[in-house]
Amino acid sequence: MNDHHKDFGQAGQLAAGFTQSLFHQLENLPALPRVAPGQALGSLEKEIPDNGQPLEQILDDFRQHILPGMTVWNHPGFMAYFNSTASPASLLSEMLIASTNSNCMNWLSCPAGTELEQLAISWLAQLLGLPENMWGIIFEGASLSSFHALAAAREKVLGPAFREKGWQPGRKPMRAYTTAHAHSSIAKALMALGAGKENIIYIPVDEAFRMQPEALEEQIRQDLKEGFQPLCVVATLGTTSCTAMDPVSEIAGICEIFDIWLHVDAAHAGPVAILESHRSLFEGWEKADSITVNPHKWMFLSIDTSVLFMQERYYLREAFSLTPDYLKTAYDEQVTNYYDYGLTLGRRFKALKLWANIRYFGRRGYQEIIGRHLEMAQLLRSWLEKEPGFELLAPTPLSTLCFRYVPEGETLTAEAIDVLNEHLLAAINRTGQVFLTPTRLNGKFTIRLVIASLWTEEEHVKKAWKAIRECAGKW
Ligand SMILES: *Cc1c(COP(=O)(O)O)cnc(C)c1O
Repeated sequence: MNDHHKDFGQAGQLAAGFTQSLFHQLENLPALPRVAPGQALGSLEKEIPDNGQPLEQILDDFRQHILPGMTVWNHPGFMAYFNSTASPASLLSEMLIASTNSNCMNWLSCPAGTELEQLAISWLAQLLGLPENMWGIIFEGASLSSFHALAAAREKVLGPAFREKGWQPGRKPMRAYTTAHAHSSIAKALMALGAGKENIIYIPVDEAFRMQPEALEEQIRQDLKEGFQPLCVVATLGTTSCTAMDPVSEIAGICEIFDIWLHVDAAHAGPVAILESHRSLFEGWEKADSITVNPHKWMFLSIDTSVLFMQERYYLREAFSLTPDYLKTAYDEQVTNYYDYGLTLGRRFKALKLWANIRYFGRRGYQEIIGRHLEMAQLLRSWLEKEPGFELLAPTPLSTLCFRYVPEGETLTAEAIDVLNEHLLAAINRTGQVFLTPTRLNGKFTIRLVIASLWTEEEHVKKAWKAIRECAGKW
């Protein structure tokens, strides 16, 4: 036994102590740290120590110099991007993951890791109303999940010849279909997979920013006539700007006619399908070839946990399976080795977080919390609608509000309204009550507010609304 053994227990206690006091501190900390670039580490010591230092000292420096420069996503006023809050079950899991430190690359490297991943994924499928036997795998984030889904689509289209020989000159480009509201990770994946940005065709959307299925069908027919090879259609359930819900059922019907891979990106919104009352928004997603859902967003897992569901894992395995001698085991014929289905070999035991959180909240817990978020969003929407000068720029199918402020009785150019709202957003964030981020809808600078944090209660929404109104009143 060495000293580290003793320190291990102490580390757990120190972390537990810090965590217990965190939420008291948080209410006093701004939702967005007030630091300038290059200043985020305060006066933290920058020299490498020659001798090891005690854990207390490391924790003290974290408290004093690092925490003040952090944007704490667990802050109840965090309503920016799409939330990712970490529940008590996530915290427990993270400690267990670090204390056992298993690498779940194949079955043998952590047998319970693989089998718990299968169990937790089948639980998630059931919660979301997806077929129980849908295959799934955990990745670090939606960007990676979608990348792997589209790699499988490419494998299906190009087959083994591409894998062996690479791109064949003279081939007509493949084409991918999505909307301008798809997450940037889709275009990134297509760039990395060699499809080419020019071959991403952005299908027009309706007034609620949803893909227009007739336009999709027409575009595909036209492209087929011209000899293009369709690669995939990517539909989004819960777009990043305003949580638009593409009509997946109709899109799936079109993909079926032409035998095109359908990928559904439901990274943020997926967990809303746990609510029977909102299931219809997801109609048809069970027909998709692949689906991305991020439990690390609206299911309160600490980052980094995204699930990729697939009807058929064959193409993903074809695209990524490569087993060197040093990884072969006696069980390979009988088990799932998850490293066969992706780029990475080493894998954290993220399944533990998924399993532990589903245990902790239960189906009903998720329904109640997410249901409350949806209600609070409608409440805030009603306040925005009533307040003179505020303008809603998109429908609110879930709990993301998109708005701007246009002072009444003034004639301002479109550009001046944009600038005013940029300043308004900066002022709102300076209050420290809340952290909001922007987007653009129909070319207009838009302020976005997302209610999806485990820690956000009505009092925080009221505080946010007060900060927004007060800042707007100063114009
Ligand atoms: C958050 C999000 C992503 C990116 O997720 P990461 O896990 O950060 O990679 C992609 N698509 C949608 C719709 C998202 O909401």
